[in-house]
Amino acid sequence: RPRPLVAGNWKMNGLKSSAKVLSEIQAGYTPGLKAKVELAVCPPATLIGMFAMMAVGSRVAIGGQDCHPKEMGAFTGDLSAEMLADAGATYAIVGHSERRQYHGEKDADVCAKALAAHRAGLTAIVCIGETRQEREAGRTLSVVKKQLRGSVPADSNSHNLVIAYEPVWAIGTGLTPTPADVAEVHALIRDELRRLVGKGEHAKVRILYGGSVKPSNAAELMAVANVDGALVGGASLVAADFLAIAGAY
Ligand code: 13P
Repeated sequence: RPRPLVAGNWKMNGLKSSAKVLSEIQAGYTPGLKAKVELAVCPPATLIGMFAMMAVGSRVAIGGQDCHPKEMGAFTGDLSAEMLADAGATYAIVGHSERRQYHGEKDADVCAKALAAHRAGLTAIVCIGETRQEREAGRTLSVVKKQLRGSVPADSNSHNLVIAYEPVWAIGTGLTPTPADVAEVHALIRDELRRLVGKGEHAKVRILYGGSVKPSNAAELMAVANVDGALVGGASLVAADFLAIAGAY
């Protein structure tokens, strides 16, 4: 079983004063917890440099929430994967449903961003997941399979790729799929990874669950087969909650 990863996606939250939350996370990342689970914090880009400097030596990894496919150029407001790496990030979330929804990102865009992350030496956290309508129509597995095939670049392996399964209807709603539903989707993802990264390697890719993960439901979700960690939104903004989720392993 791969070493689990619990990653916090801070989304558009956090100011310089939020350094105290990272400090609390670092203080709570005890040797016992370190032995069980890897931690990553993905703050807004304005904080990546400062957080990466703070995190030196603590082994809390820092990540970005998006990147542009190109290395540099006339793309006002965008950030390249190389810039994230230069600021000290080692992860980049790509294809989050909020990027897909509010910025019109398609699977091909997500694939190009993941490829850029790899080019810069980052591990891409590729997000996929069905909407409520898709689940109600019984299309969950076909949607997830299509997103996976379209969003994972051909150069992926267990070091530079993490998959995050985040049902859109579970994000920020307090709703979560049943453990059986999570197991079904994660098994499909594992099976598809065999085609995408090769047999053997497919077993080592971390598959995270995301969507309303809280201290109260973490143990149940993390115990599901093929769940190798969590991508945590709201609860990652509170150090005690984030650490409690990590401690559920
Ligand atoms: P919440 O944990 O706030 O539901 O957000 C999940 C998410 O989108 C993480 O990327």
